[in-house]
Amino acid sequence: MAPDRIIFHIDVNSAFLSWEALEHLKKGSGVDLRTVPSIVAGDPSKRHGVVLARSIPAKKYGIVTGEPVVKAVKKCPEAIIVPPSHDVYARYSKAMTDLLYSFSPDLEKYSIDECFINATGLRLRYRNDFFSLAHLMKNRIRDELGFTVNVGISENKLLAKMASDFDKPDKVHTLFKEEMQEKMWPLPVSRLFMVGRASSAKFQVMGIKTIGDLARSDVLLLEQKFGKYGRMIWEYANGIDDSPVQTQESEAKDLSNETTVEFDITDRDTARLYLLSLSETVGMRLRKAGLYAGVIAVNIKNSSFESYSKRKKINNPTQDTMAIFETAAGLFDEAWRKDPIRLIGVATSDLVREPVEQLNMFDGMSSRWSERKSLNESIDKIREKYGSKYIVRGSLLKLNRDHERNK
Ligand SMILES: [Mg+2]
Repeated sequence: MAPDRIIFHIDVNSAFLSWEALEHLKKGSGVDLRTVPSIVAGDPSKRHGVVLARSIPAKKYGIVTGEPVVKAVKKCPEAIIVPPSHDVYARYSKAMTDLLYSFSPDLEKYSIDECFINATGLRLRYRNDFFSLAHLMKNRIRDELGFTVNVGISENKLLAKMASDFDKPDKVHTLFKEEMQEKMWPLPVSRLFMVGRASSAKFQVMGIKTIGDLARSDVLLLEQKFGKYGRMIWEYANGIDDSPVQTQESEAKDLSNETTVEFDITDRDTARLYLLSLSETVGMRLRKAGLYAGVIAVNIKNSSFESYSKRKKINNPTQDTMAIFETAAGLFDEAWRKDPIRLIGVATSDLVREPVEQLNMFDGMSSRWSERKSLNESIDKIREKYGSKYIVRGSLLKLNRDHERNK
């Protein structure tokens, strides 16, 4: 029986490392970083930087993503270490989504190097041959953009994501429900999406070692022990997920930006720095679109995958970075449950074309406002011309450094 939906998950193989390799080659480096032991690591000069990505030869030395650089270098002293360059990654990421948009507009950008495509509508054009379609996408990215991806095909996002994580690189895999028992259930439970180290350890104690063990366990018991997360993870183990592919269209009405963090945010200061960076992007997009936001919201997803958010209607719709940030930071303080944060977002809605900020003319705000306005404008201009790395507000400099360290 044909499934109702066909979902693709496209995932760049060792994204940061592949993109660095391409960039280095472009700049005339004779070495392809992908072919030698190499790592992308936050602030290699500092001893506590962590490995953000590693080449396949580096993997052969046992170097893993997320470990301290010091440890990695002990495993392979000759490894080449390159610092991350987020502007470069944003450029390659956009090139990939632009290419994929030519296949379907029904695309959700999930992270800088991953997206989902709802391919259901392409059924007729590709005569149900989704395997060939996935190969076509994968090969075009490889041949036109120079890096490789894995494509996972299934009937929902969860299984498609699990499928793209199978054997790498440059491969297409399917994982339909009838294939779960053979392809997914024998895997260790830690391989399941959203199972972290902590929950994996708890599952081991309960005798749950594989995804299959989890799928066959008592959902009520899991719910009792882990709450909402328990049911969700049991559903995932059974391949149950009906979340929609969220196309960018829904973004046009509301302007938002969010980011997943690979290492959980656990303190207020770091969260505030992320909020500032997100407010900067949202503010810039509002200013570009000539829009002012009447509602500002903060979205948080914790490490147990629970989402919550808080929103506020503001009296004077704004497009000012600092105004957005100040509201977002206040909302964050009210909302945050002190749990580890996996994803953080700033969203705006109730967008209007006319500012009402002139209303503040008589309360002493106007000069501050016009100062900010011209600051925003100059920052936008410079960022547009030279890329975002050339001008960042003072505290963002620290964020970028910490961000690289924390990622
Ligand atoms: Mg990837």
